[in-house]
Amino acid sequence: MGTNSYDFELDKIKELIKNRDARRVGLQLPEGLKTVAIEIASEITKDTGAEVILSGSSCFGACDVDEKLERIVDLLFHFGHSDTFSFKKRKVFFIELRSNVGIKSVLEKAIAELKGDCVGLVATVQHVHALEEAKILLAHAGKRAVIGKSKNLKYDGQVLGCDFSSATVPCDEILFLGSGSFHPIGLALYEGKRVIAADPFTMQINIHEPDEQRKKRYIAIGRALDAKSVGILIGQKCGQFNLNEAAALRLKAVHKGLDAYLIALEEITEANLLGFKVDAFVNTACPRLAEDFVHFKKPVISATEFEVVLGERDWEDLWQ
Ligand code: SF4
Repeated sequence: MGTNSYDFELDKIKELIKNRDARRVGLQLPEGLKTVAIEIASEITKDTGAEVILSGSSCFGACDVDEKLERIVDLLFHFGHSDTFSFKKRKVFFIELRSNVGIKSVLEKAIAELKGDCVGLVATVQHVHALEEAKILLAHAGKRAVIGKSKNLKYDGQVLGCDFSSATVPCDEILFLGSGSFHPIGLALYEGKRVIAADPFTMQINIHEPDEQRKKRYIAIGRALDAKSVGILIGQKCGQFNLNEAAALRLKAVHKGLDAYLIALEEITEANLLGFKVDAFVNTACPRLAEDFVHFKKPVISATEFEVVLGERDWEDLWQ
C-alpha cells in the first residue's frame, strides 16, 4: 500500500518542524508502512532541512512509542495511532493516518452478511471519520446502526485492540471497518458477538464468531491449571508497563503455593520465553498478546485468565 491510501499530514508535520525550529526529528511507522519511511524522510529533510532518524523498532500500537528515540530527537512523529496513553505533554505527535479510500462498495458487501436489523458500528482510527457515512448507508438498507461512546479513546466508535468499550451497545452484531483480524477477533472474544469485518482497502469481508475465539482461550487456561511454577511477564513498552499488577499477581500465586517469578521484557516473543524453566506464563503487558501464543509449548494466559487458575474468578465471568 502506498502513501496515497492514507493522509500522512506531511504539510502539518513540516510546519510543526519549522515552527518549533526542530533540527532532528524521529519518525515511527507501523510495520506495514515502513516501506514508505524513506520516501517520507527524504521529503521532510528536503523541505525543512531537519535531520530525520527512522525508528527500526517494532510499532504495534499507541502503547508502543519509541521512548529511546524520543530522547535523542526534538520531535517524534508516531504514525498510525491516536494519542491514548497520555503522551500529550511530551514531544510526541500522533499522525492518525486517516484513510482516503471510499467505503460504499465494501459496506454493501457487509450489509449482505448481516443477520439482524441492529448493528454496532466500529472502526480503527484510520476509518473512524467514515462511520457517520456508514450509518447513513446502513439506514438506507433498513438497518439501525449504533456508534457507541468509547470510555478512553478519542473518537466515538473507535476501537483499539485493548479497548472495545465503544462496541458495547444493545445490538447482537458488530460491523467493523478496518484491516486485519486483530481487532475483529478481539471484538468477538470480548464482546461475545458475531463480528462482520469489512476492509475498505482489500474489499474483503470476514466473519468472526465468538464461540470459536473463546474456545481457544478455554484450552489455554485449561493447560495452565496444572502449572506448579509461573513466569509473570512485565512488558517494558511505555504503554504496557504494569509492574504493580505483576507484583500483586506474583504474591497471589505464591500464596496459592505456586513458584512465581517476575520476568521483564521489551519484546514478548516465543523465542524470548523459551529459556525460562516455568510451567506457564501470565501476561500483564498487552492484554491481547496471550492470544498470539496459543501454539506455544507452554501456556500463556492473561491476568484475568490467571484469576480462574487461582480459583478467584468463575469461568463464566471471564469476559465481564
Ligand atoms: S496494548 Fe496491545 S492492543 Fe493495546 S494498543 Fe498496545 S499493542 Fe494494541
